[in-house]
Amino acid sequence: MEHPENDSQYAGLTVNSGVTSQPTVNPYFRPRRKPMPSVAEMVEGILRGDITMLSRAVTLVESVNPDHYALAQEIIEKCLPSSGRSRRIGITGVPGAGKSTSIDIFGRHVLSRGGKLAVLAIDPSSERTKGSILGDKTRMEKLSTHPSAFIRPSPSAGSLGGVARKTRETIVLCEAAGYNNIFVETVGVGQSETAVHSMVDFFLLIQLAGTGDELQGIKRGIMEMADGIVINKADGDNVGPAQLAQAQFRSALRLFPPTESGWQPEVLTYSGYFELGIPEIWDMIDRYFAHVDANGYFERKRMQQARYWMYETIDERLRRDFYDDPAIAVELAGLEQKVLANRVSSFIAARDILNRYFATRQK
Ligand code: GDP
Repeated sequence: MEHPENDSQYAGLTVNSGVTSQPTVNPYFRPRRKPMPSVAEMVEGILRGDITMLSRAVTLVESVNPDHYALAQEIIEKCLPSSGRSRRIGITGVPGAGKSTSIDIFGRHVLSRGGKLAVLAIDPSSERTKGSILGDKTRMEKLSTHPSAFIRPSPSAGSLGGVARKTRETIVLCEAAGYNNIFVETVGVGQSETAVHSMVDFFLLIQLAGTGDELQGIKRGIMEMADGIVINKADGDNVGPAQLAQAQFRSALRLFPPTESGWQPEVLTYSGYFELGIPEIWDMIDRYFAHVDANGYFERKRMQQARYWMYETIDERLRRDFYDDPAIAVELAGLEQKVLANRVSSFIAARDILNRYFATRQK
């Protein structure tokens, strides 16, 4: 017997049978998943400027799922005719240069002139789960609550080519949604600048004064890409050093070969925090656009960029197709060991595995 206390021989308390325990998971619970809108619905929503639809389409662009990739491509294709009508501005500077503070005020300044603004980012080192350092809404407090601003963090970590392509495609979607100003932010320390440069019309480099080394680890190549150099934190005691840095940058720029656009990059000082010198920066950017509109460079550069992105996309698809092949991945691991053990040369190893890959593709 389960409970001897319940035997009639016992005089004490009896035990009631317990209650069967309930499952901890509610069996009636069904996660509510919003059905995925059709491509036509998304395109229609984007063209209407619907932020929810835009965000969902950007999520598809960023997805690693091949089905999502295919859907995203369909949406992009349909949005392309309505894209291209924006000013695309790249903004870079080393961490701490004041990019987020500056974008917050630059963005509000741009929006005070009307229109809409999308702030995107390229940061291949960021992982969304760890909290992307770029494009994070908390970093651009005032701008992020502006109804005409759309702020999107960097696509999560991946190959630079992959991350950059996603941002490039997001630009198309944002433009189709009526965003006529696009900022693309990047950390001014490495490779991503070339990628950003290849998708923007104007490249703005944020620098600091008074840190000793005036070039602050910014590679010469990045300075050469800049259409404008702006020295931040020109406030308080720092005004003098900022002006000194301005003179130094100006003379450094004179040593560079003339730019393809025929535009002479300008150097200005400002304070993002105290919001000083902001209209002057925008006057410079307006002058640049007037210059490149007049001499045809604007169109020429956009065409060069379109060609560049065609090849970049081909490269990326080829790489992905190769490395994502499970058989190749297994073979590569073995081959790598052989190369490390000096049993086969790198070139022979590469040739052999590529030959096998191409052979499977010809079937
Ligand atoms: P980011 O890492 O390039 O995005 O830089 P942040 O915008 O986060 O700025 C780094 C630090 O510099 C923050 O503590 C800001 O408050 C400060 N800062 C940014 N702009 C200015 C400025 O114009 N003047 C001064 N004095 N400090 C600034």
